[in-house]
Amino acid sequence: TRISATHVSEPDLAPVRLPAVVGADLEVPVRGGRLVPYANLDYAASAPCLEPVNAAVAAALPAYSSVHRGAGYASQLTTARYEQARHTVRAFVGARPGDALVFVRNTTDAMNLLARSLPEGTTVVVFETEHHASLLPWPDAVRLAPPAFPGEALRAADEALAAIDGPALLVVTAASNVTGELWPIAGLAHIAHRHGARIAVDAAQLVPHRGLNLAALDLDYVAFSGHKLYAPFGAGVLVGRPDWLADADPYLRGGGAVRSVGETVDWSDDPETRHEAGTPNVLGAIALAAACDALTATGWAALVREEERLLARLRAGLAAIPGVRELSLWGQDHPRVGIVSFTVEGRTAREVAEALSAEWGIGVRDGKFCAHPFVRHLLGGGEDGGCADGTVSAVRASIGIGTTTEHVDRLIDALHDLTRA
Ligand code: PLP
Repeated sequence: TRISATHVSEPDLAPVRLPAVVGADLEVPVRGGRLVPYANLDYAASAPCLEPVNAAVAAALPAYSSVHRGAGYASQLTTARYEQARHTVRAFVGARPGDALVFVRNTTDAMNLLARSLPEGTTVVVFETEHHASLLPWPDAVRLAPPAFPGEALRAADEALAAIDGPALLVVTAASNVTGELWPIAGLAHIAHRHGARIAVDAAQLVPHRGLNLAALDLDYVAFSGHKLYAPFGAGVLVGRPDWLADADPYLRGGGAVRSVGETVDWSDDPETRHEAGTPNVLGAIALAAACDALTATGWAALVREEERLLARLRAGLAAIPGVRELSLWGQDHPRVGIVSFTVEGRTAREVAEALSAEWGIGVRDGKFCAHPFVRHLLGGGEDGGCADGTVSAVRASIGIGTTTEHVDRLIDALHDLTRA
């Protein structure tokens, strides 16, 4: 019986045309060996590639060659495509003229590059709600407790930065990978700058869902990963102010990052060259740029409208299931992207996630989502989150382009079944 979320009334709007995702027709085995269409509700971990991304990589492959070195036609063409990709991604995030864009492996890599580029004596301030990628690269950081409401985040940042002498960097997520909640990054940027500090924003979970304009928001750095943005694994970016990067030790020591090597090494002072030693992930950069182009061409209005429709359906469905509790830091009404974490009374998150996969062909994530302090906080505090058996964890369902109404309804139906059993 389908008791799904169909009771949720939806406005009668014209259907939105979104790009196709690769693997939309994937079938997966469920118990008994039957194949069912895969309901991928794990976009926050890695999103499937878009078809235009697939096409861009296929188009680049025949003339695939090294960049920045060869005189041959293929090398020139690949270099042009790589630099065009840099240009596209810069435009996608609204970088200022003169901002650097360093291609790295992912958000983790970007934050580690930034950590190694801090001027001597910089104090980092970070909220405990961060993903480990943005929490751990600065072991000596001042850590701020999860704020009870957005204004509290501003106040805590203000106080912490006021107490710091010398250079400071505030690190904050734009959208939480646990709750999907949007953070007040414009306000935090304003506060950081009032204290002469800089702000670095972890945009890994924002850019797949919302447009970001670094210049308009007055952010100093943003970092994100291609694989959450509908491109394949292995390429990400750090974008922002060039000076710290130009002065820092090269992230990797090797070819491509130098002007000349003799008795001494003359490292490039162009931050992009300086920190991209070795042969870069050219196809990753091309794919990432193709994803940016596809999202821009679709338009944020259409993307957001469709996401909000599915998210409202998902959340209303979850709210109607006895024993299911949605996690949130700032309450149910705070704006968020298409990420929802929840617990199911009487079941561990692992049991729920395994059953969803084995019985219904639904892919979700369970655990602490590389945000241990935050999930512990949301689940009741303490080292084990108040769970003496150490089962502090939640289930996360996350949506994006390629998510259908049927996927959402299947999850809700499955959870009704599970909680009744
Ligand atoms: N920041 C946030 C908010 C994330 O959700 C993730 C990935 O889960 C990361 C950073 C790390 O991304 P990556 O594993 O691509 O480095």
